[in-house]
Amino acid sequence: MEQELKTLREAALNELAKASDLDELNDLRVKYLGKKGSLTSVLRGMGGLSPEERPKIGQIVNDIRADLEGLLTARSEEFKQSALEKRLASEKIDVSLPGRRPNIGHKHPLTLTLDRIKSIFMRMGFDVAEGPEVESDYFNFEALNLPKDHPARDMQDSFYITPEILLRTHTSPVEARVMQSKKPNDPVRIIAPGKVYRCDYDATHSPVFQQVEGLVVDKGIKLSDLKGTLDLFAKEMFGSNVKLRFRPSFFPFTEPSAEVDISCVMCGGKGCRTCKDTGWLEILGSGMTHPGVLEMSGYDPNQVSGFAFGIGVERVAMLVYGIDDLRLFYDNDARFLAQF
Ligand SMILES: [Zn+2]
Repeated sequence: MEQELKTLREAALNELAKASDLDELNDLRVKYLGKKGSLTSVLRGMGGLSPEERPKIGQIVNDIRADLEGLLTARSEEFKQSALEKRLASEKIDVSLPGRRPNIGHKHPLTLTLDRIKSIFMRMGFDVAEGPEVESDYFNFEALNLPKDHPARDMQDSFYITPEILLRTHTSPVEARVMQSKKPNDPVRIIAPGKVYRCDYDATHSPVFQQVEGLVVDKGIKLSDLKGTLDLFAKEMFGSNVKLRFRPSFFPFTEPSAEVDISCVMCGGKGCRTCKDTGWLEILGSGMTHPGVLEMSGYDPNQVSGFAFGIGVERVAMLVYGIDDLRLFYDNDARFLAQF
């Protein structure tokens, strides 16, 4: 057996010395040291040896293994080194090449639109308020005059996490949170921008979209204050020629309620494809804050009154930039985004 091992050792060292690349070295490693390699099969034959011979042969096998491993490592280092030297010799740096200009990002069109909306309202004295996107059923619906079985809840297909927790369907809950954080009847003048979530998906709806809710509460707030505020907003946003139209509507948290249209920014009111030949474009919902909403947050509707409105940021951005598919904002196609 000793003789057999000696022959094996010589054959292996000889082949290793002749190997010409890393692949060959790996094949040899498998051939001699692998699970089914020659050295392992010799070890299997040790069962037939006498107890005195076994440690001796074991020692020889270990020595051979160490020799082979040593040579394998040395040779593979050799190959790696020579490959590196070859690459260094062939690669040259051309210092005369012009540098590559890094692509610098910029704000998303929705962020640009939101920034403009915020800035218009902040100049009118509004504060910006924020709230959680994962909201309780209480703040999202109940505190806004929408009890559990209210049919108007069906207008907003919601993503529920538990029966009491959902992704907010509008930023209106921020209004209730702000009122409840104040002393009863303290004046409020806020906008609440942010992402909201509904189960909707087509050219004009996305399951995630952005809203700016506004709320003003104080003594003697009238419908004319609402009209004046929105008129100024529309003129700042779309140009001073824009006209406003209020259409009666229904929202559970306002009474009376109105949808607000602007004269079409594409055709100036003459009628075109964008406005479906009506000359008007719907941009937001609004109304006088429902007395029940004020009461729910500890305010006295006999002392104070208020108005609220909700603007769809995507809708405004589509009109400002002339975009006909809302989904483009969320596709993250660099060719689309680079235009803003
Ligand atoms: Zn038009």
